[in-house]
Amino acid sequence: MADKRDYYEVLGVGKSASGDEIKKAYRQLARKYHPDVNKEADAETKFKEVKEAYDVLSDDGQRARYDQYGHVDPNQGMGGAGGFSGNGDFGGFGDIFDMFFGGGGGRRDPNAPQRGNDLQYSMTIEFKEAVFGKETEITIPRTESCDTCAGSGAKPGTKPETCSVCHGSGQQEVVQNTPFGRMVNRRACSHCGGSGKVIKEKCGTCHGAGRVKKQRKINVRIPAGVDDGAQIRLSGEGEGGLRGGPAGDLYIVIRVKAHEFFERENDDIYCEVPLTFVQAALGDEIEIPTLTEKVKLKIPAGTQTGTYFRLKGKGVPKLRGYGQGDQHVKVTIVTPTKLSDEQKDLLRQFGGIGGESPAETQEHHESIFEKMKKAFRGE
Ligand SMILES: [Zn+2]
Ligand SMILES: [Zn+2]
Repeated sequence: MADKRDYYEVLGVGKSASGDEIKKAYRQLARKYHPDVNKEADAETKFKEVKEAYDVLSDDGQRARYDQYGHVDPNQGMGGAGGFSGNGDFGGFGDIFDMFFGGGGGRRDPNAPQRGNDLQYSMTIEFKEAVFGKETEITIPRTESCDTCAGSGAKPGTKPETCSVCHGSGQQEVVQNTPFGRMVNRRACSHCGGSGKVIKEKCGTCHGAGRVKKQRKINVRIPAGVDDGAQIRLSGEGEGGLRGGPAGDLYIVIRVKAHEFFERENDDIYCEVPLTFVQAALGDEIEIPTLTEKVKLKIPAGTQTGTYFRLKGKGVPKLRGYGQGDQHVKVTIVTPTKLSDEQKDLLRQFGGIGGESPAETQEHHESIFEKMKKAFRGE
């Protein structure tokens, strides 16, 4: 304690400084050394030193004793001289900081209407449902304004009353004496919980909340052409508002299941169709399943495996605007695996060589046949 600096020196004021001068000096220094602002290592120590000096000099009685006796070491049993050592209750930096730099923010009217929350619902639909659209009904849990009390929370025939403690403001003022004089803190009113209203007789349905949980059935129209990840907004189908505020919105996120045969890229459809090498070599007319029907596709002689053919307008209806995408057909030439001896002989003649025919299994292509058969059946 011996090396304790003089309080006047700490604040940089003269011995005859007025209360206002001391206050002004303190505010400047406190701002300068506040640990939230000043990141120097000794800022906190300096801040405490400044505060201690101010605590003493701002109090007329303590200042008079300090002027007379100087620093008093409380360890020497002279605490009775008045607890001005400043080592006691140092109430954190937060409150003071807020006062300087304007924490908190504006007051909100606790009785103002409040919009309900938005809700999100994820819906998985079939591939073709996304292409052609669908109407369906979903059931969602949501909070709605209570019908019984029209959202007031009060028993029908009664009304919520203005809180007698906060007079409807929802806030209570707590007066504290601080180095700066009286400081008024506002807190949520403990009597009404910040709502500004007190419900004497609660509504039997919502028990005073004004809102109830419901399982709500909602009709959803999914437009033709939606794609995976699309969002449909149903305005006003979210959670109910508070105190007459509007309901939030409901967002339906669409997930589209994959299809065995068709693949989709935006408005276009892709599929893979098997051809025998005879069809590919000589040309043929084959049937292709599309999303709606079977169509004929002419395969020219000498078609190579991997060639794409376009079926114009056989794709997905455009979600915005008119028209449809296309269907792109990729042909894959399938090597035969089950040949009769006669076929083998013919192939050997055709190839002009002896030896065995290629005998690899073609499970991949068999599965393409299988998928296409299903697509023909409209699956
Ligand atoms: Zn109140
Ligand atoms: Zn109610």
